[in-house]
Amino acid sequence: MTRVVIPSRKWIQGGTVITPEETIPNGTVVVEGEKIVYVGSREDAPSELLTGAELVEAGAYTIVPGYVDVHVHGGGGADALDGTPEAIMTVARAHARQGTTSFLVTAATASAEDFRRTARSVLEVMQAQAAGGAPAAADVVGMHLEGPFLAPSRKGAQNEKFIRAVDERELEELLALLGTSFRMMTVAPDAPGGLAGIRWLVRHGIVASIGHTDASFELTKAAVALGANHATHTFNAMRGLHHRDPGTVGAVLTSPGVFCELIADGIHVHPGAMRLVYEAKGADRLVLVTDALSAMGRPDGTYELAGKTVVVKGGVARLETGELAGSTLSMGQAVANLVRRVGVSLAEAVRAASLTPARSIGLDDRKGSLAPGKDADLLLLNPELAVARVMIRGTWLETGNEVKEDGKEDKNENNGG
Ligand SMILES: [Zn+2]
Repeated sequence: MTRVVIPSRKWIQGGTVITPEETIPNGTVVVEGEKIVYVGSREDAPSELLTGAELVEAGAYTIVPGYVDVHVHGGGGADALDGTPEAIMTVARAHARQGTTSFLVTAATASAEDFRRTARSVLEVMQAQAAGGAPAAADVVGMHLEGPFLAPSRKGAQNEKFIRAVDERELEELLALLGTSFRMMTVAPDAPGGLAGIRWLVRHGIVASIGHTDASFELTKAAVALGANHATHTFNAMRGLHHRDPGTVGAVLTSPGVFCELIADGIHVHPGAMRLVYEAKGADRLVLVTDALSAMGRPDGTYELAGKTVVVKGGVARLETGELAGSTLSMGQAVANLVRRVGVSLAEAVRAASLTPARSIGLDDRKGSLAPGKDADLLLLNPELAVARVMIRGTWLETGNEVKEDGKEDKNENNGG
């Protein structure tokens, strides 16, 4: 027996719509099923698209594409390396509530077996999501391995026990397991075999991200010449910028093709240095990330990252040695911080959180912007830039951030930062 399914059609009217090309006041967005079918002015909207659509008046809101985070370890109390599909779904739900609609599950440096266990769970979740299951969560779009081929001197919060020399056999095994879902690896050019590792990743179409490295300016430029075109949390866990030794930071900031990640929580990088990254790269190469831990979306307390204890106090995550260890940041907060503390326009900050990260991992045909044919991943931001409503592939999410009828916001952790 068959029955005709009428695809759900949603019409968002009013509000300011931010597209890659323009900012449309009092705009219109129409969604059919999982896709955006129209973005523009009310007058130009074909009336047949609006017929029978569920109307949402977006009045005072700004309508922006859902955020894409290429560096997420955890959230909601779970971590990628917990290694189960349930843990990954917990992370996906925690970030979705704060505006992330797609992300790379990011594994901190761990054993080969732990990587493989997480990879199998990533694939399981991706298959479930592709089949329409696992709703109310951000889309898992692949995996980012942060290590294990890193410089021990710049390990940051990574566990040195698992840092190792580049091993192509391990890379081959991961590729055989993950296929095209192996999207990114953070690698240090100065790790033993580092440049060979970068060459291997580039040859296989995997983003080679320079990070956790003490690489000189020259060595970093050599890595970029081999095709490394991404930098992991710029400034953090890499050789800094000195006028006689411009280091890793100097090299990635002056390489036009390199996408530079930034943890914009105001703690990892001073707002002045954030501004420097923005000035050097622009919104087309600046990639906002959270580097979030399991503690994201959870209260202060003691958490774990790849076998290390992390203490979160006042939202700041540190190892017991005092070293910063990931963040509790959400993408919603990161965008607000870039606007408020760095003076970047909202349209540019949104771009650095959506289209640019999507482009950095080759996902911009489907994600990262409001345009017909793209996945209907979008957010309504309130005037304080907090994420009020979230739509993922055409379905509104229950965020708990909704506007009450009296016009007052629910209090939520996204208003901080
Ligand atoms: Zn990380």
